[in-house]
Amino acid sequence: MELSREVDPFLLIVAMEEAGEFAQACSKVYRHNGGEFEIKCLSEEIGDLQAMINLLREEGFVDLEVAEKKRIAREKKHRRNL
Ligand SMILES: [Mg+2]
Repeated sequence: MELSREVDPFLLIVAMEEAGEFAQACSKVYRHNGGEFEIKCLSEEIGDLQAMINLLREEGFVDLEVAEKKRIAREKKHRRNL
């Protein structure tokens, strides 16, 4: 991974904004007890966030090996039906 290049902040800033919208959508699903509209909004924000993650990956901001190890550990910790 190249670390010494000049970083264009645009994707990182949009990713921060989308992460905030995702967090807000999670809160609204809880506050509205899993309402249909709120679940649709959460689904849209997940799509936005996944897009930003993909774009950050394409621009070399993500170490896939690190991300995959962490994903597996997190799923193992929180999955209910294992
Ligand atoms: Mg959004």
